[in-house]
Amino acid sequence: MPVAVTIDEIRAAHARIAGHVVRTPLRPALSLSRDGSPVHLKLETRQTTGSFKLRGATNAVLSLDASAQGGAAGVVTASTGNHGRAVAHAAKARGIRAVVCMSQLVPANKVEAVRALGAEVRIVGCSQDDAQNEVDRLVAEGGLAEIPPFDHPAVIAGQGTIGLEIIADLPDVELVLVPLSGGGLAGGIAAAVKALRPQAKVVGISMARGAAMHASLLAGKPVEVEELPTLADSLGGGIGLANRYSFALCRDFLDEVILLSEEEVAAGIRHAFRAEDEIVEGAAGVGIAALLAGKLRPSGPTAIVVSGRNIDPELHRRIVEEGVAA
Ligand SMILES: *Cc1c(COP(=O)(O)O)cnc(C)c1O
Repeated sequence: MPVAVTIDEIRAAHARIAGHVVRTPLRPALSLSRDGSPVHLKLETRQTTGSFKLRGATNAVLSLDASAQGGAAGVVTASTGNHGRAVAHAAKARGIRAVVCMSQLVPANKVEAVRALGAEVRIVGCSQDDAQNEVDRLVAEGGLAEIPPFDHPAVIAGQGTIGLEIIADLPDVELVLVPLSGGGLAGGIAAAVKALRPQAKVVGISMARGAAMHASLLAGKPVEVEELPTLADSLGGGIGLANRYSFALCRDFLDEVILLSEEEVAAGIRHAFRAEDEIVEGAAGVGIAALLAGKLRPSGPTAIVVSGRNIDPELHRRIVEEGVAA
């Protein structure tokens, strides 16, 4: 099977999005470091819109060829979370329309957050499937191009730029820890790291509750798992039974996948705040959590991708002050 996303595409993405996204810092985390195994945090919490999703969304929006897309004058997605925000921001920056389709069940604060970024919100039906059907309808009608959250070459290449920056800033890196859901982030980063430093290990980390990519890798093909509420809410959801790119990249390039309990995810959020002064959402704290839980033993320079900061402030307060796990 051909590699879906190459290092050249990731390099091109890096050049394309430079100036549109933040080149985030990679900084030492003394509380997690040991002799011979310094640990660094790649802080996508400092990214505009609060998560790395802006890299992939921006690369996809800037790669749109208006004529090839049937004159696409805008983009559409069904994501209400970090990807929705990123698509709204990237479209606004390019001066094109963004439509975000949501079901009636999406809470008002999420609807407002997307509107505040300048996107049009379309409320349809009662489920994520209904919202996705509306996306499909709008794309078929013409004029709008879908930007999916992970299974898209330009999106994956955009996320892979994090891998380029890690190698540039920490050339002797031996271990890279990456949050894993649909696998756009981990697949893109692993493609970059393995091309530039094949001996470095890349490990994906998910919550045990509803780890769709983990189940799919075990099954050898994309499978569905039951979606359960989790503190790592940005890691929820399936990988798509018709997955075309991210599954193959994760299968070919990830060395290992680690699963965490809800208590372990909470401990990651708490440690990030108390010991490293970082506000992270559950999905972003999983690399820290995996080290704290002793599920990995770094031998050599280590980089942890801290993927975003969009957590409800009240939930964050309860986790760090009261030790609430779920
Ligand atoms: C989307 C997201 C992830 C997972 O990315 P995938 O490409 O779906 O694996 C991790 N962390 C945060 C904060 C996210 O928003």
